[in-house]
Amino acid sequence: MSFAKLLGGSEVCRQLEALSDSRRIPHAVVFESRDMQLAKSAAAELAAAFLCESEGKRPCGVCKACRKVRDGVHPDVYSVETTGGKQATGVGEIREMIADCYIKPNEGQGKVYFIFDKMTPEAQNALLKILEEPPQNVQFVITTEKSTLLLKTVLSRSVLFKLTQSGEDKTSDEAFEIAVEIARAVPQNIELPLLGATSRLLKSRELTKQVLEQLSEFFTMALEEKYLGEGGYEDYITGMTRMLKRGSIVKLFDVVSKAQEMLSHNCNMNVLVTWLCANIRESRH
Ligand SMILES: [Zn+2]
Repeated sequence: MSFAKLLGGSEVCRQLEALSDSRRIPHAVVFESRDMQLAKSAAAELAAAFLCESEGKRPCGVCKACRKVRDGVHPDVYSVETTGGKQATGVGEIREMIADCYIKPNEGQGKVYFIFDKMTPEAQNALLKILEEPPQNVQFVITTEKSTLLLKTVLSRSVLFKLTQSGEDKTSDEAFEIAVEIARAVPQNIELPLLGATSRLLKSRELTKQVLEQLSEFFTMALEEKYLGEGGYEDYITGMTRMLKRGSIVKLFDVVSKAQEMLSHNCNMNVLVTWLCANIRESRH
């Protein structure tokens, strides 16, 4: 595994790689994700990076430390266990962890503690004390479905990374790019840019769904700008605000809603894309 495989080429992935390579991993990291398996895999990756023995890229994936972390047998990587069938990790477990922090590592350069379960507020307050003055070479990795479940004070002493899966993230970038292309093409009176942008939708229904959502947001912004005056929007929004009448933007908004409905009814993609292109063109007038 590597951050790139887990998280694709996302910004978060680049940040984690840069921190790992330069050995500047923060003392406390919070991984937020709806996918707990992804968060746990990222935690293991970060632990490997922290303990990796390589002088080059970290985690190297081949040194003894990396292999042991990957196999879940590194003696300096601990997972705080919630005991007694409770819903959340309590203050007792956190205090035990804190006491353990000050004991020298078994074989590595440092120790890593995973906190995967929810924590009670008391447990978080206990954790806070160690986050304020962390011992040398100790790394805490907290995973959570929602960072708002953590106390603000804990978050402010940690570095938060919001994780999305590689596929998810990549598609969103592409969808955003296509939506921008369409928004730029809309006010122009030449066909080609609009045709080019909309034809990219034929690639997949999921992509089309995301592009339509994005477009609906863009048209809302353009309407807002029409009503409220210029508000520092990007050029592709301002372009529409300047060149299109208010009625045209409203029509575009309706076209997108109709296209979303067609998509949800499993309409043929060629029909949908042709319809969309023709109706966007119509709305300009
Ligand atoms: Zn390594």
